[in-house]
Amino acid sequence: MSIFSPPRFQAPYRPCRRKDDGLATRALTFFEKSVKGALFGCRMCGNCILQETAYICPMTCPKGLRNGLCGGATPETCEVDPSRPCTWHRIYERSQKLGRVDRLLEINAPLDGNRVGRETWIELLKERKARGEGPRLRDAILDRRRFRRERDALFRAVRQPEWWQGDAEYHPPAYDEPVSLLEEELRKGTFVVTGEVAPPLGPTPELIRKKIGWLEGSVVAANFTDNASASARMSSLASSKICLDAGFEPVMQLQARDRSRVVLESDAIGAAGLGISNILCLSGDHHRSGPGPVAKPDQFDMDAIQLIWMLRRMRDEGKYLDGRAIKTPPRFYLGAAASPFGAKSEFEAIRAEKKINAGAQFIQTQPIFDHDRFVEWLEALDQRNLLGKVHVLAGVIPLKSARATQFMAGDVPGVRIPETIVKRMTELDDKDAQQEMGVEIALELLAKLKATPGISGVHIMAIHWESIIPRLVEEAGLGGQHVPSPSEAEPSPRAATI
Ligand code: SF4
Repeated sequence: MSIFSPPRFQAPYRPCRRKDDGLATRALTFFEKSVKGALFGCRMCGNCILQETAYICPMTCPKGLRNGLCGGATPETCEVDPSRPCTWHRIYERSQKLGRVDRLLEINAPLDGNRVGRETWIELLKERKARGEGPRLRDAILDRRRFRRERDALFRAVRQPEWWQGDAEYHPPAYDEPVSLLEEELRKGTFVVTGEVAPPLGPTPELIRKKIGWLEGSVVAANFTDNASASARMSSLASSKICLDAGFEPVMQLQARDRSRVVLESDAIGAAGLGISNILCLSGDHHRSGPGPVAKPDQFDMDAIQLIWMLRRMRDEGKYLDGRAIKTPPRFYLGAAASPFGAKSEFEAIRAEKKINAGAQFIQTQPIFDHDRFVEWLEALDQRNLLGKVHVLAGVIPLKSARATQFMAGDVPGVRIPETIVKRMTELDDKDAQQEMGVEIALELLAKLKATPGISGVHIMAIHWESIIPRLVEEAGLGGQHVPSPSEAEPSPRAATI
C-alpha cells in the first residue's frame, strides 16, 4: 500500500535486458524501487513524471495513462476497477490544491522500453554532465530560484527526450488547404452532420455499402468504430476503405488499445496510402468492458493524446517517432473524443485542451442527453480559449428501446441520461412507441444543439439503427446551413489556423 498514490493495479516493470547493468545500477534500482514503491506505488517505469502529477504516480492507473483521465472515469471510481479510485481524479484534485494545474498540460511521452524497470538517477546525472550546468547543491541554499530553474530544466530534459519533445503549447496544423471534405465543410462554417457506422461482424462489405446508402445525402462522412467495447468486428481501416470505394467519405477511428506505437504508425500511414484522411484518435476501452475472455491487462502502449501528438508530427514534421524521415508525409485530418459528463467540466476541459494542443482539429463528444451540463462543459472550454481552435461535433444517440436506455444510463461509463428521459422511455410498454419516443427525444436535443453557440455540428451514433439517421436529419432540418460560432463572433487570432 503506497502512502501518496492509489494502490498499484499492475506489478512493477522489470528491465527488458539486465545483462549490461553494473552493480551501481542494480543497487540504485533496488533502492528506488523500495522507497518509491512504499511512497508512491512506483512501478519503475523509468520515465518518472511525478513532478507533473502532483506526486501521485500515474502508472497506478489500470490503463497506465500518462496524460489524464479516460472518458469513462467518474469522481468516485475507476472505469476499469470500481473497487479503486480514479488515479487521475486524485491527480487533478491534488494539483488544484497545490496550485499546479498548469503542469498537467505538458504532453508526456510514452514509456521508453530501454529505461523501463531501471532507476532514474543515473540518467539525470548523465544529462547534467552532458549539459555542463546545474543545478548545484550550494544554490539550494544560496540561490533557491536559480536552483529550482535549473532543476526543472534538468528534469524536463530527461522526461522529454529528443524523440518526443512534448510541451504545453498549442500546435496548429502546418498546412493550408483542407485535406478532406469534412475539414472543408467545417472550415466553411457548415453545420456538419456525421454518422457512426458499426463495422459488420463478418466479412460482408455489402452490409457497409447498404448502410452508406442510407446515409448518403444526409451526412458528410461515415465514422467507423474500431473494435469498440473491446469487441472484435471488421477493422475500421477495412471498413473505411470499403466506404471510400463506394464513393463516400470515411472517418477512421484509430484506438491505441492493442496497438504498439509501431502498429499505430503503420496503420495510420496505411490509411493515408489508401486515401483515408480523417482519423479519430482514441485511447480505447479497456478489455474489461468487452465480452471476454479478457486479454492480459497491459494493452496500452500509448494514450489518445500521445497518438494525436505522434500523428501530427508525422504529418507536419514528416518523421516517424524514431526519427526516420517520411519523404511524402501523410495528409491527416485529426480528431479526438471528449467526455463532457465524466469528471467535473473544469477537469474535462484540461484534457480537451491537451488534445487540442497536441493537434486535434475536431472533437466528437460522448452522447448528449443533458444539454445544460453540456453547455457548462462548452463554457469551461471557452474559458480556456479553446473554441476558436477546434470544431466540436456534439454526439447524439437516438434511443431505440427502454432496455437500451436503462443500460446506457446505468452501465456505460461517461454517459449521463437525466431521470426524466429514462422515465419517458420506460413508461411505454410498446416497442414501436419506445422507438418513436427515442426519435422525439433526439429531435428535441438536435433542435437545442443547432442553436448552441460554440459547436460546429453533430455526430449521430445510431447504434445498429443507422437507417434512422436520414429521418433525423430531415426532420431536424440539419445539414448545409451556416451556423456562426463564437470564434466568428469574436475573431480569435488562431481561428484561421483550424
Ligand atoms: S512515474 Fe514511473 S518512476 Fe515515477 S513513481 Fe510512477 S512508475 Fe515510478
